[in-house]
Amino acid sequence: MSVDHRIVIIGAGFSGLGTAIRLKQAGIDDFVVLERGEDVGGTWRANRYPGCQCDVPSHLYSFSFAPNPDWSRTFSLQPEIWEYLRTTAERHGVMGHMRFGHAVTGAAWEEEQRRWRIETSHGTLTAEVVISGMGGLSEPSIPDIPGLESFAGAAFHTAEWDHEQDLRGKRVAVIGTGASAIQVVPRIQPQVGELVLFQRTPPWIMPHADRPISARERRIYRRLPFAQRAMREGIYWARELLVLPFLHPRVGVIGERIARRHLRRQVRDPQLRAKLSPTYRMGCKRVLISNEYYPALQQENVRLVTDGIREIRPHAIVTADGVEHEVDAIVLGTGFHVADVPFGQFVRGRDGRSLAEAWRGSPQAHWGTTVAGFPNLFLLLGPNTALGHTSVVFMIECQIQYVMDCLRTMGERDLQAVEPRAEAQATFIADVRRRERGTVWVAGGCASWYLDENGRNSTIWPGSTWRYRERMRRFEPGEYHLYPRAGAPAAARMETPATA
Ligand code: NAP
Repeated sequence: MSVDHRIVIIGAGFSGLGTAIRLKQAGIDDFVVLERGEDVGGTWRANRYPGCQCDVPSHLYSFSFAPNPDWSRTFSLQPEIWEYLRTTAERHGVMGHMRFGHAVTGAAWEEEQRRWRIETSHGTLTAEVVISGMGGLSEPSIPDIPGLESFAGAAFHTAEWDHEQDLRGKRVAVIGTGASAIQVVPRIQPQVGELVLFQRTPPWIMPHADRPISARERRIYRRLPFAQRAMREGIYWARELLVLPFLHPRVGVIGERIARRHLRRQVRDPQLRAKLSPTYRMGCKRVLISNEYYPALQQENVRLVTDGIREIRPHAIVTADGVEHEVDAIVLGTGFHVADVPFGQFVRGRDGRSLAEAWRGSPQAHWGTTVAGFPNLFLLLGPNTALGHTSVVFMIECQIQYVMDCLRTMGERDLQAVEPRAEAQATFIADVRRRERGTVWVAGGCASWYLDENGRNSTIWPGSTWRYRERMRRFEPGEYHLYPRAGAPAAARMETPATA
């Protein structure tokens, strides 16, 4: 069998880059990274809205093998994270593997040749293995509000910020009050003429512990790398404890008290406070952190609207109470397609079915990484690997370790393909369902992007990340169908499984 490349990686964000670097370090050179954008960085390249900042400390929100002693803040802003990813890619010599401007439009497993055929905006290529590093938060969700397309002014999503638009002095609507919107609001409020914020559900907001990292601290990290490693370990374990309130919502009452006090301290007006008070358990949606959001909302040029949006007209947003809110521009802080990623439609497995058809609204993967019926496909940050309490870069590295061990096994046993057994995947999913029972993600009394259209959690890893790491250290061949290369010893051969 011939293929254009042994491995194709899709996406050049943390997942794709991390995999590329690990492959290179393992002496595997026959791979390309297909990236639809013009640079590495993934979500940190795409999200350039004002105020974009990571809500996980930088010492942990970075690769374990590429510490950056020069982080300027404890919680980095987007430009610094993007720069970190570019520098890391260059330093590890993977830029030559990048194929920028290559949007993947289809991928199908060819059973006879046992290889993937990948359609891109620049033509077709074939590969033995496909590793998706597309992440869960890459497809902006544009709300289905009647009349949105008729709006006469600028309207754009936070992940597609239009920097050509000068918002100074304008009447600007922000729709949504999630992690992105609460960072945008304090940044644009001083510039705009009027800011009308449309809130559907108030988020829980905790105080922010962000601060600059002093030149002295940075010198220490540069000279004594173990000091930075110790800091990273400390942050990791401190954050790991934070999973407890998610798993046992009663413990979460402590966090709710802190957030309520934060709201009381920052917002004096009881009516406004009532509007900003969540009525569901903390953690059911992502817990946000900000010291600037509530103060910004109380500025004279800001209005908080809590009535639902009925329609959009060329110059206004109309709410359910019939009020017409005239605006010149609309910022959509309305989140992403998560369980319904377009990617699910265009990847077809052994029997020709797409991932979306196999999943029927509830994405599933063995250990969030491999899918029955889809040989040699690895999903980084796949179903049930997102987190509410710590760094997803940690999860990505666990998955990369698993992929590397799988590739090693394939090499040692001369395997052409591996595919998880349907029963192994079902056992894993049953375990996820058991562990998530009673957790805040499924029993917290809110609607969130953690839950799919069937109301199931197909997003969050319901447990501690060290347990995940322990399990992902080794690829377990017994959980897989193993397909030897043609010509391999007959004893090693296996039957093709029935369709999963
Ligand atoms: P999000 O958390 O999904 O928030 C979307 C917001 O839009 C919600 O307030 C939602 O209201 C509202 N919304 C959606 N459709 C609407 C409609 N038709 N009408 C009115 N309101 C509507 O999205 P996000 O803020 O972009 O964040 C997504 C995720 O990205 C975060 O949870 C986080 O994991 C990540 N992120 C992280 C950071 C960070 O590190 N600081 C920053 C940005 C994003 P409901 O709540 O009522 O649905």
